[in-house]
Amino acid sequence: MIQLYIPLNFLGVIYREIKQSLADMERLFSLLDENREIADAPDAMPLFTSGAQVHFSHVDFSYESNRQILFDVDFTILAGTTTAVVGHSGSGKSTLSRLLFRFYDIDQGKITIDGQDLRSITQTSLRQAIGIVPQDTVLFNDSIEYNIAYGMPDASKDQIIAVAKAAHIHDFIESLPDGYASMVGERGLKLSGGEKQRVAIARTLLKNPALLIFDEATSALDSKSEQAIQTQLKEIAKNRTTLVIAHRLSTIADAEQILVLDHGRIIERGTHGQLLAADGAYAQMWARQQAHPEEAQAVSPPSISQ
Ligand code: ATP
Repeated sequence: MIQLYIPLNFLGVIYREIKQSLADMERLFSLLDENREIADAPDAMPLFTSGAQVHFSHVDFSYESNRQILFDVDFTILAGTTTAVVGHSGSGKSTLSRLLFRFYDIDQGKITIDGQDLRSITQTSLRQAIGIVPQDTVLFNDSIEYNIAYGMPDASKDQIIAVAKAAHIHDFIESLPDGYASMVGERGLKLSGGEKQRVAIARTLLKNPALLIFDEATSALDSKSEQAIQTQLKEIAKNRTTLVIAHRLSTIADAEQILVLDHGRIIERGTHGQLLAADGAYAQMWARQQAHPEEAQAVSPPSISQ
């Protein structure tokens, strides 16, 4: 009941925070539909995906008019392939995913999915097409079943169990006294970071989106959970257009394309092998992370902007 009385300005704060952290967009938009800053064009059409090829065409972007964040960002994620973005903190990685979700409109250039400009399609259809495994999944104060099925009210119990199995969280759920009816979230069971990510993976599998954004957690899970999650993510990403915001280079070595962002510009691009052979910023980052794996959270290319 208390939630009913939350003042609107408080919702505004939540909106901004969630938007910033990419934490839980489906929830955000259903709760705060009216708070959208971006409106659909009067003649907006639903997005039609056939493979979901993503193209950022010479994109310039600033949150505030006096500070440009992205400069002439131009890349393509071919349908069904994975592109990973690396770069120092603040280089603009998460901004790319916010723009793909059309949280903001860009200043110059164009972003398209299968040739359709994001500004010409409905936001509802855009968000239906994108699944996110966020850094830190926010769980609702509800059953674990509800949390997995969130956004897919018509999902059957069999479907929910199937995706929970695929996300390797079914056995854990079954071991709880109330099974799938167990309450989680702030007022229920507290799940570990790895368990929460598995719930997000199960939810994403149920949604079966054409496009996937994986916002890798900055803080590593223990290495066994980390490896298990990586294996599952590879499974979900298979044949799905995927954008990974990466903090640990070891997790993206087999991406079809790696972009190195530095102060809002793409300074290198290629596969892991090509970038090592180029012996530039990425190769230095790789060498540093190999020597100091504990520093993986602070992936930074050497500064080139001075
Ligand atoms: P990290 O690895 O730390 O998550 P990032 O590479 O994802 O960093 P972004 O979150 O994309 O970086 O931020 C890029 C730049 O944009 C930063 O300088 C940040 O301060 C700025 N920025 C991000 N969000 C906003 C906002 N809502 N308003 C103004 N500036 C912002």
